[in-house]
Amino acid sequence: MMAQYLALKQQAGNCLLFYRMGDFFELFFDDAKIAAQVLDIALTSRGEHGGAPIPMCGVPVHSAEGYLARLIKAGCRVAIAEQVETPEEAKKRGGSKALVARDIVRFVTAGTLTEEALLEPRRANVLAAVCEVRGSIGIAACDISTGRMELEECAPDQMGAALARLGASEVVAPESWENAPVGCVPRPNRSFGSDEGEVRLKAVHGVSTLDGFGQFTRAMLAAAGGLVTYLDHVGRGALPLLLPPVAREAGTHMAMDEATRSSLEILVSSGGTRRGSLVESIDRCVTGAGARQLAEDLSAPLTDARAINRRLELVSWLHDDPLLRGDIRGILRALPDVGRALGRVVAGRGSPRDLGQLRDGLSEARRLHDLLRARSDRPEPLDAMLPSLAGHGALCDLYARALVPAPPTERSQGGYIAEGYDAVLDELRRVSGNARRAIAALEAKYRDDTGITALKIRHNGVLGYFIEVPAKHADRLMAPESGFTHRQTMAGAVRFNALALHEEASRIAESGGHALAAEEAHFEELVAHAVRAKEAIAATAAALARIDVAAGQAERAAEGGWALPRVVDEPCLEITGGRHPVVEAALAAKGERFVANDCTLRPQDRLWLVGGPNMGGKSTFLRQNALIVLLAQAGGFVPAQDATIGLVDRLFSRVGAADNLARGRSTFMVEMVETAAILSQATERSFVILDEVGRGTSTYDGLSLAWAVAEAIHSINRCRCLFATHYHELSRLAESCDALSLHHVRAREWKGDLVLLHELAEGPADKSYGLAVARLAGVPAPVLKRAKSVLEKLEKGRAATGGLAAGLDDLPLFAAAIEAAEEKVDALRERLNGLDIDALSPREALDLLYQLKAQA
Ligand code: ADP
Repeated sequence: MMAQYLALKQQAGNCLLFYRMGDFFELFFDDAKIAAQVLDIALTSRGEHGGAPIPMCGVPVHSAEGYLARLIKAGCRVAIAEQVETPEEAKKRGGSKALVARDIVRFVTAGTLTEEALLEPRRANVLAAVCEVRGSIGIAACDISTGRMELEECAPDQMGAALARLGASEVVAPESWENAPVGCVPRPNRSFGSDEGEVRLKAVHGVSTLDGFGQFTRAMLAAAGGLVTYLDHVGRGALPLLLPPVAREAGTHMAMDEATRSSLEILVSSGGTRRGSLVESIDRCVTGAGARQLAEDLSAPLTDARAINRRLELVSWLHDDPLLRGDIRGILRALPDVGRALGRVVAGRGSPRDLGQLRDGLSEARRLHDLLRARSDRPEPLDAMLPSLAGHGALCDLYARALVPAPPTERSQGGYIAEGYDAVLDELRRVSGNARRAIAALEAKYRDDTGITALKIRHNGVLGYFIEVPAKHADRLMAPESGFTHRQTMAGAVRFNALALHEEASRIAESGGHALAAEEAHFEELVAHAVRAKEAIAATAAALARIDVAAGQAERAAEGGWALPRVVDEPCLEITGGRHPVVEAALAAKGERFVANDCTLRPQDRLWLVGGPNMGGKSTFLRQNALIVLLAQAGGFVPAQDATIGLVDRLFSRVGAADNLARGRSTFMVEMVETAAILSQATERSFVILDEVGRGTSTYDGLSLAWAVAEAIHSINRCRCLFATHYHELSRLAESCDALSLHHVRAREWKGDLVLLHELAEGPADKSYGLAVARLAGVPAPVLKRAKSVLEKLEKGRAATGGLAAGLDDLPLFAAAIEAAEEKVDALRERLNGLDIDALSPREALDLLYQLKAQA
C-alpha cells in the first residue's frame, strides 16, 4: 500500500494527497502534519516507514467538502486519489490479497473550484496564467465557475496592476521565469507556448480559426496555453466550461495599481474583509451574479464615454421608475445562479438540482424579457440585451416536462425525473409502488396469521426486507412448517424471511434498478441539451447580471439621493456636495451628519493643496472625490448633488507611510516607490490623490520631498491632483505654481475646545491645532502643558530665524531649474555632436575631456 501511496504522492507533487480508504480520506507524512494543524484534527500514526512511525490523519468522505474548503482557504492545494475499482474487482484481478487500484481523479485548488459549497456567491473566483513573450506580458484569466475567459497583453511594469484588478485566487506561471509573480504555481515552461495556446483554444471551441473571437497576440495565446494546460492537468483531462475568450483592449479601462486599490478599499477594506469596503456600501444587487458583476465593474471602470453612458442610461431609467425597479428586483431575487449551475453541468459535476436551476432561471429570464419588452419607453442599451433573455423556450419546456419541481442534489436515489415524461419509467415505478403496497398488505396478513401484533416488516441495507418479531414470540416462527426462514437473531428481536415477501422485494429491487438506470440515461441526455446551448445560456446569465447591477445601482442612488454624473472629455472635475459613501454610513450609524464638500478642478486650477488639522477630514475629502470618479466611470450614480467628471485614464491614490501601518508595510521606502510610480505614469488625463506624502521621514526630508513632488505633478505630469499635507510651508508653492490653489478643512477653537467642522474652505490653513487634537484625544493635561511651553519656545525661534522654509527664498522655480539642467545637457550634446574625433590629436582629446568635465 505504501508503494502505491508514494507513487500517487509523486504525481500529486506539492499538493496534499487525499488517499481514499473506505469511508475516509487519509493523509500521511508531512501532508498529515499540515492538514492536522490547519484542520485542527488529531494526528496519529500508522505502521512504519524507514524505521519511523508514519504520521497520519483522516477526514470522513461524507464531510470532506468542508475540510477541503478550509484547506484551500489556508492556501493548500489538494489531490484526490479515489478507489477506481471495487474490492471484488481487485480480488478477481489479482487474488485475495490484491490492493484496490487508486488514481488521482482531480486536483482541488483555489482557482479551480466549482462546488457551490466551496464558492462565495458574491465573489468571482478567478484563475490566471501569466507569462512573458519577447518583453510583453500575456495574461489569461478565467472564472471556471461560469466559464468566462479573458486575454490581455501589457507592459511588464503594468503586470502588477493587471493582476491586482483581476484579484485572482490562483496564478500560474512558467517555472523558470524569474519575474513570475510571488506566490504563483510554477508550471512547465513548454505549456506556455503561443502555438500550444492556439491549438488548445481551437480544440476547446471546435473551430479552425480564432478570428471569430477577436484578435489575439502571441503573448495572450501563450498565457492561454498555460491556462488551458493547467486546467487539463487539474481536471485530469476533463475540462470545465470555457466560453470563447475575449481580448481585453489596452486603454479601455481606468488603470489603477495595487496600492491605489487597497488605499481606496474598493473590494476589501483595510481590515482585509468586505466589511467597510466601497463595494459593500454600494452593493444592492439581489443575485450573486449581479454582485460579482458589480465587483468587476468597480475593479475596472471604463474610459470610453459612450460605453459609460450606455450603462448610466439604463441605471437612470430604473432610477426614475421605482415601481418597475421593484418588479424587476422581485423577479431577480428568486433567481438561481444560472451561470454557476451551467458551470457545474458542463464540467460534468452537475446534479438534477442544477438542471432544475437552469430550468427555473431561464424561464424567469423569459418572464423578465416579457416585462421589459412591454415597456415602450425602454432605453436603447436594453434592446441589445433583450434577445439574450429569451430563446430558451424549447429547453425550458423539455426540462419542465422532464424534471420534478424540486430535483435533489443526489442522483443515486433517483426520483428526479417527473412522472409522465417516460412511460417505461412510470411503469417501473408503478410495479415497485405496487410491490411496496403488497408488502404493507403482507405485514397485516402475517400479523393475522401468527397472532403477533408486534410483528413488523422492516428494511435495511444489508438484509433488504425482513420480518421482525420480539424475541419472546420468535419460537412460533422457528418451526419449519411455519413458512418463515430464520435470518438473524438480535438482542431483543429475531428476524425472518418469507417466500411472498422475498418475491415482492425482488420485484422492487429489479424495477428500482431499471428505474434508476432509466433516470440516469435521461439525465445524461438533459445535460447534453444544456451543453449544446452553453454559450446562449451564459449570455442569458450575463444579461441577468447586468440588469441586476443596473437595478441595484439605481436602488442605491435612490436610497442615498445620489446624482447622475455627466461624463465629459476635458480634464476637469466639478463636484458639488460630494460625500464619502462609507464614512457617511459609519457616521449615520452613530447618528451623526456628514458634511458635503465641493471640489472643482480645471486646467487652470488643477492642483489643490489641502491643509488643516488632523482629524479635520482631509483624507475623507480626497478619497470621496476619487471614489466619485471611480463610481461614475463604472457607470453608476454618485454620492453628490451634481457631478461633471472629465474622463480619467489613470487613478492614483497614495497615503503617507504613517497611515499605512495596517498594511504591515510602514516603511518610507514603500511610500517612495509608490510615489515614483505616479511621477512616471500620471498623464494630463490622470487624477491623483496624495495624502500626507513625505511624512514617513524626518521633517526636512519630508517637506523637501513633498515640495518637489507637488512641483513635479504641477509642472510635469500636469494631472488633476488633491494633495493633503500638514506642512504649512508648502503653501508658498502657490507663489510659483499658477495652477495650484490652497484649501483647508475648517476648525475653530471654542472656549478652549477644538471644533472640527469638516468643511472645506479656500486659502491656507491658519494653524495646525496639533495640541488641540491631542487634547481631544485625551492626552493628560500636564503633558499638554509641557508641550505648549516647548511649542512656544520653538515658535519664538522660528520667528527669529524665519522658520523651516527660511532658506527657500532664493530657490529657483522648479520649471526654471529643470530647464537650466536641460540646457546644460543640450549644450554638451551639441558640442559632442559637432566633434570630429578622428581629427583630434591625443593631446587635444585629453584637453577636451578636461573641458567637458568642467562644463558638466
Ligand atoms: P484627516 O485626514 O484630516 O486626519 P479624516 O479624513 O481621517 O481626517 O477624518 C477624520 C474623521 O472625521 C473621520 O473618521 C470622520 O469621522 C470625520 N469626518 C471626516 N470628514 C467628514 C465630513 N465631511 N463630515 C463629517 N465628518 C467627517
